[in-house]
Amino acid sequence: MPSSISASAAASLPWERPVTALSGIGPALAERLARLEIRTVGDLLFHLPSRYEDRTAVTPIRRAGIGQSALVEGEIVACAVVGRSRPSLWLEVADDSGRLGVRFFHFTPAQRRRLGAGVRVSLYGELRLGLQGPEMVHPEYRCSGEGSLREAALTPVYPTTDGLSAKVLRRAVRAALALALPDLVEYLPGPLRPPGPSLAEALRLLHGPPPGCDLGPARGVLAFEELVTHHAHLLTLRHVPGRSAGPKCRVAGRLLAEFLGALPFAPTAAQQAVIAEIRRDLERGRPMRRVLQGDVGSGKTLVAAAAALLVIEAGFQVAVMAPTELLARQHMDTFGGWLRPLGIEPLGLMRLGAGGKTRRARARDPETRLVVGTQAMFQEAVGFERLGLVVIDEQHRFGVHERQALTAKGAAGARRAHLLAMSATPIPRTLAQSVYADLDLSILDERPPGRAPVTTVALAQTRRDEVVARVRAACLTGAKAYWVCPLIEEGESDLKAAGILHGELARALPGVSVGLIHGRMKAADKDRAMEDFARGPVQVLVATTVIEVGVDVPSASLLVIENAERLGLAQLHQLRGRIGRGGLPGHCVLLYKPPLGEMARARIACLRATDDGFLIARRDLELRGAGEVFGSRQTGLPGFRVADLVRDEALLPAVAKAARALVQGDSGLLLGLRKRWLRDRHELGSA
Ligand code: ADP
Ligand code: MG
Repeated sequence: MPSSISASAAASLPWERPVTALSGIGPALAERLARLEIRTVGDLLFHLPSRYEDRTAVTPIRRAGIGQSALVEGEIVACAVVGRSRPSLWLEVADDSGRLGVRFFHFTPAQRRRLGAGVRVSLYGELRLGLQGPEMVHPEYRCSGEGSLREAALTPVYPTTDGLSAKVLRRAVRAALALALPDLVEYLPGPLRPPGPSLAEALRLLHGPPPGCDLGPARGVLAFEELVTHHAHLLTLRHVPGRSAGPKCRVAGRLLAEFLGALPFAPTAAQQAVIAEIRRDLERGRPMRRVLQGDVGSGKTLVAAAAALLVIEAGFQVAVMAPTELLARQHMDTFGGWLRPLGIEPLGLMRLGAGGKTRRARARDPETRLVVGTQAMFQEAVGFERLGLVVIDEQHRFGVHERQALTAKGAAGARRAHLLAMSATPIPRTLAQSVYADLDLSILDERPPGRAPVTTVALAQTRRDEVVARVRAACLTGAKAYWVCPLIEEGESDLKAAGILHGELARALPGVSVGLIHGRMKAADKDRAMEDFARGPVQVLVATTVIEVGVDVPSASLLVIENAERLGLAQLHQLRGRIGRGGLPGHCVLLYKPPLGEMARARIACLRATDDGFLIARRDLELRGAGEVFGSRQTGLPGFRVADLVRDEALLPAVAKAARALVQGDSGLLLGLRKRWLRDRHELGSA
């Protein structure tokens, strides 16, 4: 086994060769494998079985259970072609214990000749109860002379695709093992690896374990290596050599003090602690890379404003970016209201249409201290003269690469801007440290006091009339309600379009002003709709999920969500976070279309049980699996092949340690691991 790996040698490792390097795999098969994202020998090895079949022991016919798969061996005692219009081949097979029918609906003359009376056969298939007693339909079989189907190890069953049989896939993996295992490189030095089998042993076990073997440790070995690779890769993104100087913001904090002093409330202890963390980062002269996690309503905007003021006082510009125009406009209002008294007027950069040129020019002008906008502000080549801080709100809406691109644009001279990414999808700390290994982590674990509780009920949509009546009664006493209608795709017949719902509610709620907001409205119309609801006469706002992120109307206390069974847990939690922001007790009604599936039932039960975003996020992880929650959009990384952040959570501290050691050590090792686990498309950053 080679003990040191150079980059040039790595290029010719059997592991990295295309699948066509294996005997028996031609272009046609390679094309089918590519549909499973299998292109290299290594990809085949990481294509792990979804389950195993046990063909290690022969089961006496009498002991084989109906509905179960079994390997049986016996002699053909009768055979016939039965049925006239659609003839099938019928056999009776006997061993010492009993008899079994075997049926082939499709068969060739040659098959028929081979499967004659007196021939001994080995059969593997599922036993079912036919008209003549137990039978197998189209079992795998071998006749005497061809040996037994009996195997020494469990038979892997791989996830597959149309036109790719289990058998062919199995043969391909076996060939890959034979080619790649003999000189498989262990990139992770022994001391960094948790105890357990070697990588080669682990792969051999997973692709063909003995019966009764605990595969946990073998899977753990693979998961560990994969997690270390991802983690180390993120760490390298964080330490971009040569760009380590950031705008130094060591200030007296006059603006911040003035701002906090003028607030009608005191910042929570959690807000103060995070502001202090950020302040230390800003003073260091190295670019801050920080993610702030806080549940909906925990007051992240205030923290962002505090950070902005420290940077502005140091003479730099601040850009605040939101994922939706609606939220960007809301931030314009909020920041404007807070900072105008300090002589700071925010500039809005949303979609740059008419007048875009002048606004771009104004953004560049270092006299413009605070710019608020959507991605447009970076996409449309706004060059900032003295950008000191980029705040990305609801950052889970953006990927790693977008995040990187944004701050790269933010180069202030030779320096890189500080980054504060904010996320309302709180996840457990260890997980966050893994997902955001390229960032430092701050957590707002406290909500501002005085928040009234929100009650949540789930009702079948057949009871919508009752809900309408209750909303009407509440509105007559001055309450405000969101009525959310998730419009997923046009043409989904069972989802009521927001427009139709708006018409219905307007009719059903005489005397109550009903507004409408959805994603396809013009920005100005959205603004007006929001404004009419927040401070105007509109009491019921029919909305699509455009209001999901960030929208802050403290006077709204009711929330009705249609088709709640179609929404994910995190999304429901975000939506519910729109109410219970002021002092009024909130009521959330989840309308669903019965019957509720098991998953939807679990989601609703969880929402009713708690409003703690961290607990909800954990439950969401359990229900959906980490792959779904941190899909490539979230992290900018392709999904894991073997690892699962929830199942493998216990590994994460050791993963972080190994990853740190790895990035400080021999870069050849990391390169090898990256090639092994991340696939080239990752290097291209196209995820
Ligand atoms: P999120 O973390 O979801 O972005 P926001 O920043 O929108 O939350 O804050 C939610 C609401 O709480 C806003 O109306 C904000 O003004 C208010 N708020 C923030 N901090 C405090 C505090 N310390 N005390 C009272 N209210 C606060
Ligand atoms: Mg927010």
